[in-house]
Amino acid sequence: MAQVFTPLPSVPDHPALEEEILAWWEDHGTFERLREQNRDGKPWSFIDGPITANNPMGVHHAWGRALKDVFQRYRAQRGFDLRYQNGFDCQGLWVEVEVEKSLGLNSKREIEEYGLAEFAARCRERVAEYAGVITKQSKRLGMWMDWGADYMTFSDTNIEYIWRFLKECQRRDWLYKGHRSTEWCPRCGTSISQHELFAGEYKELEHPSLFVRFPLKGRDDEALVVWTTTPWTLPANVAAAVKPDAEYVLSDRGEWRARELAGDAEVVRTARGEELVGLEYEGPFDGLAAQDGVEHRVIPWDEVALDEGTGIVHIAPGAGGEDFELSRVHSLPVLAPIDEAGVFVSGYGPFEGLGTDEAAELIVEALREREILVEAGTIVHRYPTCWRCGTPLLFRVVDDWFISCDEIRQPMLDANADVAWTPPQYGKRMDDWLRNMGDWNISRKRYFGLPLPFYPCSCGQLNVIGSRVELEERATGGLDQLQELHRPWIDEVPIRCEACGEEVRRIPEVGDAWLDAGIVPFSTLGWENPERVEGGYGTGSARGLTTADLPDHSYWETWFPADWISEMREQIRLWFYSISFMGVTLAGRFPYKAVLTYEKLLDEHGREMHRSWGNAILADEAFDQMGGDIMRWMFCGQAPAQNLRFGYGPAKEIKRRLLTLWNSVGFLVTYANIAEWRPTWVAEPSSSHTLDRWLVARTQQLVSEAETAYERFWTPALTASFESYVDDLSNWYIRRSRRRFWNGEPEALETLWWSLVQAMRIVGPVMPFLPEHVWRNLVAGACPDAPDSVHLAGWPEVGEADGVLLEQVAEVRRVVELGRQARAQSGLKLRQPLRRLVVQGADGASPQAVEIAEELSVKEVEFGPVEASELRVKPNLPVLGPKLGKELAAVRGALESGRFEELDGGRFRVDGHDLGPDEVLVERHSKEGWAVASEEGLTVALDLALDPELELEGRARDLIHEVNGLRKEQGLELTDRIVLTLPEAQSELLAHEDWIKEETLAVKLAVDGGSSEPTIARAS
Ligand SMILES: [Zn+2]
Ligand SMILES: [Zn+2]
Repeated sequence: MAQVFTPLPSVPDHPALEEEILAWWEDHGTFERLREQNRDGKPWSFIDGPITANNPMGVHHAWGRALKDVFQRYRAQRGFDLRYQNGFDCQGLWVEVEVEKSLGLNSKREIEEYGLAEFAARCRERVAEYAGVITKQSKRLGMWMDWGADYMTFSDTNIEYIWRFLKECQRRDWLYKGHRSTEWCPRCGTSISQHELFAGEYKELEHPSLFVRFPLKGRDDEALVVWTTTPWTLPANVAAAVKPDAEYVLSDRGEWRARELAGDAEVVRTARGEELVGLEYEGPFDGLAAQDGVEHRVIPWDEVALDEGTGIVHIAPGAGGEDFELSRVHSLPVLAPIDEAGVFVSGYGPFEGLGTDEAAELIVEALREREILVEAGTIVHRYPTCWRCGTPLLFRVVDDWFISCDEIRQPMLDANADVAWTPPQYGKRMDDWLRNMGDWNISRKRYFGLPLPFYPCSCGQLNVIGSRVELEERATGGLDQLQELHRPWIDEVPIRCEACGEEVRRIPEVGDAWLDAGIVPFSTLGWENPERVEGGYGTGSARGLTTADLPDHSYWETWFPADWISEMREQIRLWFYSISFMGVTLAGRFPYKAVLTYEKLLDEHGREMHRSWGNAILADEAFDQMGGDIMRWMFCGQAPAQNLRFGYGPAKEIKRRLLTLWNSVGFLVTYANIAEWRPTWVAEPSSSHTLDRWLVARTQQLVSEAETAYERFWTPALTASFESYVDDLSNWYIRRSRRRFWNGEPEALETLWWSLVQAMRIVGPVMPFLPEHVWRNLVAGACPDAPDSVHLAGWPEVGEADGVLLEQVAEVRRVVELGRQARAQSGLKLRQPLRRLVVQGADGASPQAVEIAEELSVKEVEFGPVEASELRVKPNLPVLGPKLGKELAAVRGALESGRFEELDGGRFRVDGHDLGPDEVLVERHSKEGWAVASEEGLTVALDLALDPELELEGRARDLIHEVNGLRKEQGLELTDRIVLTLPEAQSELLAHEDWIKEETLAVKLAVDGGSSEPTIARAS
């Protein structure tokens, strides 16, 4: 008869096995069949946060993508209908920066020379290429999505939905153009919004540190001393700020500083800050044309810091955020020294045309020449850099477009109260962000992004276009060349002002990329769309790249809000924020009910991964070296509120633990094949054997724990439950049942088979490949009426676990564990049988005394008080001496002669005194001839006395062990029978002949006076 199950190799080759499964899924349409199977199920809505399609995915992306797949697979197992729509982020600064790099372009001027239409084409090509790469990688990770029907944020449909949102913002009077000082990336030539600033990195950078004199007018030989780390801002200085209530001192060198920061200078005079306010001084660069007519004066500012610098702050409103705010309060002139590339503009004399770093050297030189440089050094400090290109940020005063947050702040806070955050503390972080968020800066002075549909008119009207139809109605020309809504084509379509009828043009700015991703809960679900359009999402740049439909409004009603979303923690300020903002604006609520968020991925030593540090692991490399299952196990085993340490070390450890599972499957396969046993696809096994009943109960318990973990979106509980289950299955059930498998007992085979099969079902979402591989072997190959994939088998329906039995075996395992400790102390081999074990404190285990006896090789197990240990209590002299004084001697005598009473909590009553745990020294000794171990209320004692009978049995066990070693060495099959020949010296062992034969599969046992070692030969 052919073998029912395919024998397993000794270790699994995870990557190879996974490639096979992927091909099998592909060939058998497994995912499509799953979707079909659940088509009438209740909807469970997941909305994917888009991954940027401009590079291959990293292992940190794989973490999030694995979690998304885990919970989608789980819900599908429970029969829910899912959408499985993947999203790609396709436009905005990050795509532009990568394309610039690949084309060798270094500035906005070079992009314009290259041509916007060509540039847009290159951006689209890059997105198409990397959407393909990421799709392939995600499949390799085991992620099931509706690949090919992805949403792509650069589709015209997506853009139109954002236009509608912006028009709604205008209707509510939230849109405005702000003249502001903003963080600016001189390389990207655009402002950086508040949330992008948080996403960027603070780097340790070295900057100049200058102390500069500002001579006071009308006060000979007196000067303010200011401190700056940005010399390039000095040519734009217009004021100096002091803290009004701080004390300032004038040194004998004629320099004003705050007292705290004046060092040990000789003080000539003191003044409160407010007394200095209004004084005028000579600016450091009064000769520059840009400085014409500027009157430099001292202003008050409560925020002046007194922990570094001089307590007098140089103010340049055109080059600093707070400086700009102060200029409004104090009506200061605003000098904007640099252009969008960070280069000095005209009016700045020798600095014109220089970058800020280049200018800094000349500036220091000029200060020195004019003898107003007090001190020049350098400082290393944390400084913000561009989140896309890493360039240190500058401040510029520019016009940007904003959405006011004032009205929406409270409704957003209210809406957040309804969201279930995992882990819960992240909900509070969202609240913090919402309380502190500034107005949303939505404009970027760039090219390949959402075209902001703003057409301001000189009559004062701000025309905002809300759809393509509206654009076509109001256009005065250019529609024939409008191939898509991107620049440069959109810029060629002027419209008529709705107020005065004049022709007006679009502003050149594009939008913040978080608008693109934020609209997704509306644009992909067909919000307010009257009729479903097949393939209707693949418009504009997305045409030909996706088959996604544009659904109708009833679809939106079904799938909005999402039941669950998941992204990493930094998305609180980014995607979670933008979808929530748009959700509250358009639908009055957050577009999600529950969130799982997680921390950062580091290398296995806890350092950030950087390619330049040589510690980065590429996703493809991880797939090839570890395999998707191992990666996913690592991701899922991680508590999400802590950083994940990812690497080959942890992967090896996971492989080792999963090997126990593999070996258990291999064990079943081996003995089931020998017994020619065949499973049937049925309900729970009905064996009445205690071990079988226990494994069934243990499996039921696993299923229930797994359900709880998945329902709580808490995978670490699942991986922990599973690993503990596999340990029980292998190190208790199989250990204790070996003989039954050798005998081919169908009840044991059926129980182990059923249990492994259920375990594969519950772990399939976390680790989709290995369980499928096992399923193909154990189930699909053996039961024609069973589903051919574990992922089509649904969630196991199991009965209530027998809690009493589980508790009983848990106690038995504790007793056995302690018994092994006691044996280890005794120095006797486990193969040496002993007469007696006494167990105190685990009466629940008594029905299974036989199991304990066998495991520990003892003849009897008694449950009752252990008298084999001696309690010795001595006074702790340094403590007790001073306390008891003269009475110490009596107490010591009573303790020595055992006249004491043991109380709770380690206390003792002796001779009328109650002694605390710190007042005595307690020792427990095994009595002569016993080995005792105890732990948390459980004590076991092994009687170590040997007699000839026990000794002989011990020798017989040694022989069995040795012979089975020989069988292995000589490559015998598990079923091969042997002839065993013993040397004369071992002839006594014939007393155990039957037993030895049974244990070694010997058909004959002979004694040969000529040999000195036992020998075996295959029986013919
Ligand atoms: Zn940049
Ligand atoms: Zn007008």
